[in-house]
Amino acid sequence: MWRVKWRRELLEREKEAAKDLMDVISTLLPIAGKEDAWIWKASKNGEFSTKSAYVTAKSAKPQNTGLKTFSETLKKVWKTPATHKVKVTTWRMVRNKLPTCENLRRRNVQIAEVEAWCNACCSNLETCNHLFIECPKVDVVWSRIQQWVGVSRPRPNDIVGHLEAFANLGQKKHKKLLIAVWMCTVWLLWKNRNESQFEGKQWDIQSLCCEVKVRLWCWIKIFKFCNVDASFSSWMSSRLIADVL
Ligand SMILES: [Zn+2]
Repeated sequence: MWRVKWRRELLEREKEAAKDLMDVISTLLPIAGKEDAWIWKASKNGEFSTKSAYVTAKSAKPQNTGLKTFSETLKKVWKTPATHKVKVTTWRMVRNKLPTCENLRRRNVQIAEVEAWCNACCSNLETCNHLFIECPKVDVVWSRIQQWVGVSRPRPNDIVGHLEAFANLGQKKHKKLLIAVWMCTVWLLWKNRNESQFEGKQWDIQSLCCEVKVRLWCWIKIFKFCNVDASFSSWMSSRLIADVL
């Protein structure tokens, strides 16, 4: 029987992953008195050899690699009806090219330890993944945006998986709009981060979510990529997929 302890309370989206982990390890029995060790499954004795690696690689079937998904995601970003600056920010975000504290440090920019933390939660190094997905405050933003969309599902921890999951919250015909919602949220999170970092603006989840809706409304009116008969007030207060579209 496994008794797993977590260092902190799990976020809603992590609970699903924790359950998957328990499903995997529940079939494994730890051997008492024996230390954990790495085993190379491709050889009989459990030790790595280049020959066994070669044979394994050669016999492996081609599969849908992360790289393919990644390039398809980038294409979606450019095809989405949004303003150019939003597309550029999203593209840089997906490619981890935004000047987050982690990326600036990687480029040898000197940033004091205390200034490299996330402005929103002040408890993690500011990485791209943290800033847009893992931060507890950002998690609340995504939960509220999903509530507005009207469909709530677990959110993957990686950026590409997160976008894919979000884009598939509705039917195929809703995909373009949902990607636009995702990009708008990402862009406003980055804008919010910059205003907090450089102008000392306080984090306000309510107004950020409100701005996502307003901007989306404007994009639809400008780019005309979606038919919306609802009034502006209904757009702001109703569930997007269930009540508006
Ligand atoms: Zn944070």
